Amino acid sequence: MDTRLKGYLIGRLAGELETARMIDPDEIAARIRNIGFSCLRCGRCCRGEHEDNSVIVSPGEIQKICLHTGLGKDAVAQPPEEGSGNMQDRKTLEELSDLIDTRGNIHTFGWELSRKRNGDCIFIQDVAAGNKCNIYGVRPLLCSTYPFHMEEGELRVSECEGLGGNTGKEESLLLAENVISRYIEEIKEAILVYQNYESFERGPENINKAMENIREGIINYVVHDSTGSHRTTRRISGPIITFQDKITD
Ligand code: SF4
Repeated sequence: MDTRLKGYLIGRLAGELETARMIDPDEIAARIRNIGFSCLRCGRCCRGEHEDNSVIVSPGEIQKICLHTGLGKDAVAQPPEEGSGNMQDRKTLEELSDLIDTRGNIHTFGWELSRKRNGDCIFIQDVAAGNKCNIYGVRPLLCSTYPFHMEEGELRVSECEGLGGNTGKEESLLLAENVISRYIEEIKEAILVYQNYESFERGPENINKAMENIREGIINYVVHDSTGSHRTTRRISGPIITFQDKITD
């Protein structure tokens, strides 16, 4: 990425961060109360049946979950999928061409929580077992603030069956504070991603190289996050990618 563009993007995010720090939690809490929300514990937002149940996680959140569960980073998080089932399709790779380097590595930004083959989050219990989150105390901010988030200074609301429910004053204030914290953390993460980002070589052979890897049963990713760039190899089993090799820091 061009240094001037990088500087411009970081500057813009720094401005957004300053504005985000001035957001009044009481104002956001009042809006949340007005919309209304009460979690029905249906677990739909954690399951593959939901339209988009991807959970973006920061390196700090991954670390907390690893410590809490004893799982390795490679089990907890994966590169954002962009529809993993199609990743072996040349057309999909051509659409992602700008993100593939000359060695066939697919470059992505940030991580998401790992999901099971059926698309469910790996931490959701079965309905019969209580439909609970197994990492509730250390769940990512995205989960604890769902269905609310901030974008360009505005409160946004995602699809959720619990909308319109009763929200107490204290509850809505806590939720508002978390929504704002998440917004601030997301901007800080984005600034660090840009600061640590190093561009890569693109070229006409990139798709062929990626296809070669896929024929050998692997997809190589380079994930850019706020701590730098990390290589991770994922093994393909049938039409779905099922196993993730060790992540290199
Ligand atoms: S971490 Fe917990 S709350 Fe978040 S999607 Fe997974 S099961 Fe749901």
